[in-house]
Amino acid sequence: MKEKILIVEDEKDIVKMLRYNLEKEGFKVIDASDGEDAMDAAVRQHPDLILLDLMLPGMDGLEVCKALKKESKTSSIPIIMLTAKSQESDKVVGLELGADDYITKPFSPRELIARIKAVLRRVNEKEKIPEIFQAGDLKIDFSKISVSVKDKPVELTSKEFELLKTLLKARGRVLSRDFLLDTIWGFDHAMEIQTRTVDVHIRTLRKKIKNASKYIITVKNYGYRFETED
Ligand code: CA
Repeated sequence: MKEKILIVEDEKDIVKMLRYNLEKEGFKVIDASDGEDAMDAAVRQHPDLILLDLMLPGMDGLEVCKALKKESKTSSIPIIMLTAKSQESDKVVGLELGADDYITKPFSPRELIARIKAVLRRVNEKEKIPEIFQAGDLKIDFSKISVSVKDKPVELTSKEFELLKTLLKARGRVLSRDFLLDTIWGFDHAMEIQTRTVDVHIRTLRKKIKNASKYIITVKNYGYRFETED
């Protein structure tokens, strides 16, 4: 799966340069030119990482950073700030606000890509799931692609299994229907009928895993979250 990067920058030339270099590295790229657009894109398209320029019209980068970290749907998305030399103190504030890293302009594409990969690697390490996952009566063996509830095997379709795995991998985090569609079904632009596909599969998945269905939490008008008690 291609990792999705959201570029938040108002200078078109920089966006173009970043897009070119990131796409060349195999990333999927979306962009936003101000804070409001950025919030909107982050909520709806759930990028894997945000490149946030601090110099933006309207809401400045630090305010955008704060807003992204405050909103539960976007708070876990890693942020790399793009700063100018004159913004030394801002980058400290940004890191305090929860940004993961910063890079000072001008930077080489190679340096930026190394930073992006390092941050993504850190996040992925945290999200790693064990070969066998157990919560209450639910047991998932990822090496055998098998699921059981109260030691009774549960037959899941491949899509249901992928859905469970994706939710589990992001446990504690809300995933939007669009994100799930994009990840599991590979649709780029989800329409009404397609987002319902996710709901239908969640419904059958919940039915099959019985009381363990309590771990799959519905976030109204948005998506789903996997949450265990521990
Ligand atoms: Ca700018």
